[in-house]
Amino acid sequence: MRIEDPMIVAALPELNVELRSPSALAGLTSLAIGGTTDLLRIKNHESIPSLLSLLDSHGVSHRFLGGGSNLLVGDGELPWVVLQLASSDPDIALDGNFAHVDGAADLGRTVTYCAKHDLGGMEGLIGVPGTVGGALRMNAGAYGMQIGSYVREVKLYRDARGEAGTSLQTVQRNSSRDSYLQRKAAFEPAAGPEKRRLHLQKSARGVRWTHDR
Ligand SMILES: Cc1cc2nc3c(=O)[nH]c(=O)nc-3n(C[C@H](O)[C@H](O)[C@H](O)COP(=O)(O)OP(=O)(O)OC[C@H]3O[C@@H](n4cnc5c(N)ncnc54)[C@H](O)[C@@H]3O)c2cc1C
Repeated sequence: MRIEDPMIVAALPELNVELRSPSALAGLTSLAIGGTTDLLRIKNHESIPSLLSLLDSHGVSHRFLGGGSNLLVGDGELPWVVLQLASSDPDIALDGNFAHVDGAADLGRTVTYCAKHDLGGMEGLIGVPGTVGGALRMNAGAYGMQIGSYVREVKLYRDARGEAGTSLQTVQRNSSRDSYLQRKAAFEPAAGPEKRRLHLQKSARGVRWTHDR
């Protein structure tokens, strides 16, 4: 789908949204498949409500894209545009035992960053590719742990209800009628005496992660 309406095209820079037209999703998904559409990169997360209401009022359908590691997208010209959060800099801020993380931040790098700053426990998620926002949407998990267990607060925008807000509980999967855009999350990895520390061990077969017992 191409955004050709001059009103939308003119409004996007004001909302700090970058239009990349056209974009092949095959270049943005792990499976390297997917057709072509316009990609809207949201640089100012505060503009999400205005952007979505602008698209809705002009009948432009949309889908969300994180890191593209769990998407199976059809070929050809796609009947919707894709919205993707651009990452802020810095995208992780520590506050005591909490890590405030941008929805566009890379999950593996987030886990590593936390562990390096003595906030451990989430290391099982280190190999899950994709963004923090995508991981929250999917409730990503590995090695017996799920990201939801570590989430204390999520800032989100509820598309169907047109509401921005904060969820203080773990986000569950929701229905397609109530899709939401994850903007930011606060994690509380393990801390204190039971905190596990992460070590990088180099071995002949590469880099390995281990924990203190
Ligand atoms: C090699 C490989 C290994 C994997 N291993 C694991 C594993 O061990 N455990 C596991 O759980 N998964 C695994 N996955 C799947 C994938 O990595 C996870 O589902 C990941 O959390 C998806 O994140 P993403 O940012 O790539 O999301 P995407 O693939 O881009 O999107 C996934 C879904 O989330 C939605 N979404 C994305 N960002 C947002 C946002 N900001 N707000 C709202 N919705 C959003 C999308 O619309 C889509 O519905 C693996 C994938 C690959 C390719």
